[in-house]
Amino acid sequence: TNDEEAAARVTAVDADTGAPTIFDKIIAKEIPSSIVYEDDKVLAFRDISSQAPVHVLIIPKFRDGLTQLGKAEQRHGEVLGHLLYAAKLVAEKEGIVDGFRVVINSGPSACQSVYHLHLHVLGGRQMKWPPG
Ligand code: ADP
Repeated sequence: TNDEEAAARVTAVDADTGAPTIFDKIIAKEIPSSIVYEDDKVLAFRDISSQAPVHVLIIPKFRDGLTQLGKAEQRHGEVLGHLLYAAKLVAEKEGIVDGFRVVINSGPSACQSVYHLHLHVLGGRQMKWPPG
């Protein structure tokens, strides 16, 4: 809807301020999302602006300073590994496990717009390389 698109635009920032993001509200279920997979550590939900027939975002439920991959520290290793494994579970669930792409945009020059680390899981069509 237009409201959802407006909400996404409002959260678009060019710098990592560490402030809460719209994803905190999604985790708290204060705003609706289409959940695909959830466990105690991560939440996976459909991207509102899908770039492929399957476009799911996977986020850690506890951001713990992980606003972007470029700020990862050793203590984040476990959740980072779990996010990747969750990507495989999502791909399986969505029927794209034979061919899918996982993307992490880290920082402004990678066009990151929400500063809560997230994996994009994309599939259901032929992907092109290189990405833009
Ligand atoms: P970009 O906006 O350039 O794709 P990111 O990698 O930071 O950068 O991706 C943020 C993603 O979050 C976008 O694909 C956007 O469509 C998605 N998004 C923003 N708000 C919501 C929301 N409320 N529900 C689902 N997806 C959202």
